[in-house]
Amino acid sequence: MKIGCPKEIKPQEFRVGMTPATAQEAVRAGHEVYIETNAGLGAGFPDEDYVAVGAKILPTAEEVFATAEMIVKVKEPQAVERKMLRKGQVLFTYLHLAPDPEQTRGLLESGATCIAYETVTDDRGGLPLLAPMSEVAGKLAPQVGAWTLQKANGGRGVLMGGVPGVGPARVLVIGGGVVGTHAARVAAGMGADVTVMDRSIPRLRYLDDVFGGLFKTSYASGVNLIDLAREADMIIGAVLIPGAAAPKLLSRDQLKLLKPGAVLVDVAIDQGGCFETSRPTTHQDPIYEVDGIMHYCVANMPGAVARTSTIALTNATMPFMLALANKGWRQACADDPNLLNGLNVHEGKLTYKAVGEALGIPT
Ligand code: NAD
Repeated sequence: MKIGCPKEIKPQEFRVGMTPATAQEAVRAGHEVYIETNAGLGAGFPDEDYVAVGAKILPTAEEVFATAEMIVKVKEPQAVERKMLRKGQVLFTYLHLAPDPEQTRGLLESGATCIAYETVTDDRGGLPLLAPMSEVAGKLAPQVGAWTLQKANGGRGVLMGGVPGVGPARVLVIGGGVVGTHAARVAAGMGADVTVMDRSIPRLRYLDDVFGGLFKTSYASGVNLIDLAREADMIIGAVLIPGAAAPKLLSRDQLKLLKPGAVLVDVAIDQGGCFETSRPTTHQDPIYEVDGIMHYCVANMPGAVARTSTIALTNATMPFMLALANKGWRQACADDPNLLNGLNVHEGKLTYKAVGEALGIPT
């Protein structure tokens, strides 16, 4: 199969859909790989690295789209890219169609077969192509929170690990899923005093079994939350209710209960945020203050570490990409119900129920 990987064109997106390592696997499996020139540069992969493993470099996105039978990307196709898709072509990338009627229309009109990373499942009901980005965002959260805690950035001026004779920062992580667990591990590794809250008792049991001693766990009742929030130097919001907007766990009024200069890192901002005062920010201007409390609310945190994120994402997408290329999408999806769950659009028809319900389009 001819596989194409264009350069990402969404502002501030430095990730790339295929690394030289994944291109090599595809070439070894007998496929032709076409990479747009400089597609990997933002993630630290120059054209020569792709050429060295047998991929071919094309000068424009138009040529990549025109040549390839399958397009492998990171972000949803932008309007100019959607126009280049065609019937019979497979698109494999993040789509997030539910809140995006314009993109959905464009993909339906293209006639292409579109498989979304975010709805591919695994045998345990997890989302294997979303998890790597949650791992990255989780590990970044204490790092950016620690920077925000510094006095010059508006924070309380507290060092995560303390020093001999001075206690560590107190970190509260709300939501003990993929983001929360990775955030708690890093915060604890920095020497902070960490508590993770969750509403799921089985999850708290798991965390206590595996990480007991490294951090504490607490049931996420309203009372416990306020008690722990009052003591916290940093609160990391990492909750998720699948398919729903994030619940608001701290109101503006409750900010006055927190320590002045405390830091809120709202990782759940991509689902609307879990603090009432959260609004999406960018890597260029990531933090702001409300009532003496610092907020960090970057909606695409993994973009800050484009190289790590690219490698983590493509490690996870590669087996699916290879299955699609080796067998063709029909056979690959017939053989693997988890991959079939990724199918969102096919030849002008919406094929994913939840997206159809969100947009009022029949599936
Ligand atoms: P996850 O499903 O693995 O974990 C979410 C956890 O939240 C679950 O354990 C659940 O029991 C818990 N939870 C739900 N409601 C709760 C409540 N009211 N109080 C306490 N706990 C509650 O999800 P995840 O992969 O860890 O993702 C967490 C959030 O981070 C999501 O909103 C996701 O979209 C977001 N995210 C953001 C970025 C970014 O760049 N900002 C990157 C990756 C993920």
